[in-house]
Amino acid sequence: MKIQMVDLNTQYQRIREEINTALQNVLDTAGFIQGKQVGEFARTLSEFLKVRSVIPCANGTDALQIAMMALNFKPGDEVIVPVHTYVATAEVMALLGLKPVFVDVSDDTFNLDIAAVENVITDRTVAIVPVHLYGQCADMEPLLKLARKHELHVIEDAAQAFGSVYTFSSGDRAHAGTMATVGTTSFFPSKNLGCYGDGGAIFTQDEALGERMRMIANHGQRVKYHHEIVGVNSRLDTLQAAILQVKFKYVEEYEAKRNAVAEVYDQSFANHAGIRIPGRASNSTHVFHQYTIQVSAADRDALKEHLLRQEIPTMIYYPVPLHLQKAFAREEYPAGSFPITERLSKTVLSLPIHTEMTAEQLEHITKSVLGYFQ
Ligand SMILES: *Cc1c(COP(=O)(O)O)cnc(C)c1O
Repeated sequence: MKIQMVDLNTQYQRIREEINTALQNVLDTAGFIQGKQVGEFARTLSEFLKVRSVIPCANGTDALQIAMMALNFKPGDEVIVPVHTYVATAEVMALLGLKPVFVDVSDDTFNLDIAAVENVITDRTVAIVPVHLYGQCADMEPLLKLARKHELHVIEDAAQAFGSVYTFSSGDRAHAGTMATVGTTSFFPSKNLGCYGDGGAIFTQDEALGERMRMIANHGQRVKYHHEIVGVNSRLDTLQAAILQVKFKYVEEYEAKRNAVAEVYDQSFANHAGIRIPGRASNSTHVFHQYTIQVSAADRDALKEHLLRQEIPTMIYYPVPLHLQKAFAREEYPAGSFPITERLSKTVLSLPIHTEMTAEQLEHITKSVLGYFQ
């Protein structure tokens, strides 16, 4: 019973026939680029997410880049982003000559500290990029209000939160990635809706912007060999679209399975003095891309080692905050600039969570975690 962070092989075995048939259909027609399955999958997402434009692309990093290219940001423009996130979010800004302006996060939900956002808005600010980290939505209602007040675009990075739903005070509900100017996601294999390679998508309710992003993703052309704007080559492979169309049918079942695992972890660790369980946002569902506990900095690496000896893998998301990464370091952000994120980098530990976890595996993990503290 080898425990993995995610068990993609067992997951595949359960839907093997359907996947193989879908792949065979693509192979038989050889429509590898922009085959009909790509459009079908985009329509499936559009209906499920209730979003007008869905632009499939090559990966979640490109999705962010294409969104920022389409919005015509200029070199030197400032984009506000949480400092506790995956590198991709800030990386594309650097590539486009934009200036990532970092903001700390809440140590309860791990998401953007909205109150801190307003303090860093300047004349050069053009957008805010909330990241729906670990599977639940950032607090979008106050964020969107703030963005409207300052006439800023909002780009949601929903790579870790596909399927998560946010509830506004009006009672309106919306999926992660569909609430702002643009939303982006990733279909990297380990993401909640993952393909068998790289994949991504961009969402918007603004059809003109959607058309522009569709062009940018395909060399800036609407008509083949007529390039209206400078674009990139970023398309979702037809084979990946065919896989995603099959896996999409199971996405809610997968979400329920992840939540069931999280429930067991919560119950096992909730009242433990040495372990802090992840906080739940009051207005968002959680799809548990990660289940991330906090322990003391003195315990974290020792606990990780202890679990490894019981053949339990764990991960640290993320061990080095962005402002302390060599590639993104700036004089204005010395160590100590973002105390919560810096503490999290020493105290977080993500436990295995996936759709194929057995009761025995879960018991072994919870007992081993608790065993460390005895
Ligand atoms: C995975 C991820 C991305 C990038 O997605 P890729 O498909 O790997 O390029 C971007 N942002 C966040 C928060 C992610 O977790």
